[in-house]
Amino acid sequence: MNKKRVQIIMKSCNRRDLEMEQVRQYLEGNGYELSSNAEARQFETLDDEKVDTNADLIILSTCAFSSVTEESSLHDLQLIQSKKKPTAEIIVCGCLPEINPERLNAMFGGASFGPRGYDKLDTILNAETRYQDYRHSNRAASYAEDVFTIQIEQGCPCNCSYCAIKHSVGSLVSLPLEEAVAQFKNGLDKGYSRFVLMGDCSGGYGLDIGESLGTLLKRIAAFNGDFTVSLTDIASFHLQHCFEEIKLMCAQRRMPSLYVAVQSANNRILGLMKRQCDMSKVREMLLELKTLHPHIELVTSIIAGFPSETLEEFEETLEFCNAISFNTIYCHGYSARPNIVSESLPGKLAASEIEKRCIIAKGRLGSKIALVTIPGKGGTAYAGSRFKALYKRTTHKMSHLSWKIKEALSLS
Ligand code: SF4
Ligand code: SF4
Repeated sequence: MNKKRVQIIMKSCNRRDLEMEQVRQYLEGNGYELSSNAEARQFETLDDEKVDTNADLIILSTCAFSSVTEESSLHDLQLIQSKKKPTAEIIVCGCLPEINPERLNAMFGGASFGPRGYDKLDTILNAETRYQDYRHSNRAASYAEDVFTIQIEQGCPCNCSYCAIKHSVGSLVSLPLEEAVAQFKNGLDKGYSRFVLMGDCSGGYGLDIGESLGTLLKRIAAFNGDFTVSLTDIASFHLQHCFEEIKLMCAQRRMPSLYVAVQSANNRILGLMKRQCDMSKVREMLLELKTLHPHIELVTSIIAGFPSETLEEFEETLEFCNAISFNTIYCHGYSARPNIVSESLPGKLAASEIEKRCIIAKGRLGSKIALVTIPGKGGTAYAGSRFKALYKRTTHKMSHLSWKIKEALSLS
C-alpha cells in the first residue's frame, strides 16, 4: 500500500521547531512519507511553488504574536487551500489557533491545536503509536546542523500586558534540572560543541520547580571541554537572577550570543507593560558583559508605539539600544491582539504614528535593526536589506523606505 504523503510548512519561530521535529519522527513512525519541508517563517510570504500538490496531508505551523505574523499565517493558509490537491487535508498548529481562534475558524474548518496540543494528532490521524512515545528533539531546523538545542522550558511565568503568546504557550513548565543537565551531557558525548538553551521564557527557567537558570548554567559551566552555550529569550527583569553565571560563561568566552528582550527602556512604559525593572542596572550588567566578552552577540527586541508612549519615551529606548550597542535588534510596532490587557489602556497611538516610530528606529539604529514589523495595511516587515509587504500586492520598494526614513527623521 502506498504511504500517505505529508508536508510540514513552518511559519512559526525556532521555539516551535523542536516540537515539529518530534512531529516528524512521529509521522514517520506512523507510516507517513515526509515530503520536502517548506519554510516561509513568520515574516515571509510562502512561495506558492513550494506547496506540495501531491501531499495527502499538510501541517501548517503558524505564528500570531503580532497582527503582522497573523496576517502572514492566514495569507499562507489561504494559499495552501488554493494550491493543495482537492482531497488533501490541512492541520493548523502553532500559536494562531490559541491566540485568535475566531479569525482562524472564519476561514478554516479543519483540525487545529496550539503548542500544548500535539497529542491531539493521535486522534486526528488515528495513529498507531502515540505522539508522547517519541523523544523531544535537540535538532532545530532554524539552526545549523552542528548546533545542539535544549528546550529547557515551555510556557511563561510572566504576564506582560501586551503579550498574546502567553495565551498560546500557557504557564511555565520547566525541564527537571537533572534532565536538562543530562541532555547537555548527551550532546557533549555525541561530539557537539555548540549549544543553545531555549524556551518560551528561558529566563524564568526553574521558577516552578525551585531551580533557576543560574543553577543550570553553573552545572553546565562545570563540564570540561571545548563548548559554547547561547541563550535565547531572557526578559530584562530576569537577567539579574542569572547574571553571575552568565558573567562566568562570558569570562570563559563560552557565550557567543545572548538575547535579552528589553521592549522599552522607559520606566513608566515598563510599568504599563508589567515588565518593571531597574533599567540602569540592566544597562550596567549588559555593558559589563560586553567588556568581559567584546565579541558576544547581544540581541534584543523593542516595541514602538506602546499605548500612551511619548516620542521622548521611545527615544529613551533607542538611546538605550545605542548605548549598549546591541548587535541585532528586532523592532515591532505595537500590535493589537485579542484579550491582551494593554488594549484597554488609554492613549492608543494612531497606526501612522506607530509606523513613524518604526521608521525612526530603522533610521537611528541602522544596520543593527534586523527586522521591523509594522501592523496595519496587511502588515509590513522589513528584514535585512529588503522592505516588503507581507501581501505581494502592496509591495514596497527600497526607495519608499529611504524616503520614509528621511521623512521621519526630519519630523522627529
Ligand atoms: S507566537 Fe511567539 S511562540 Fe508562537 S510561533 Fe510566534 S514567535 Fe513563536
Ligand atoms: S516574558 Fe515574554 S512570553 Fe512571557 S508574558 Fe512577557 S512577553 Fe509574553
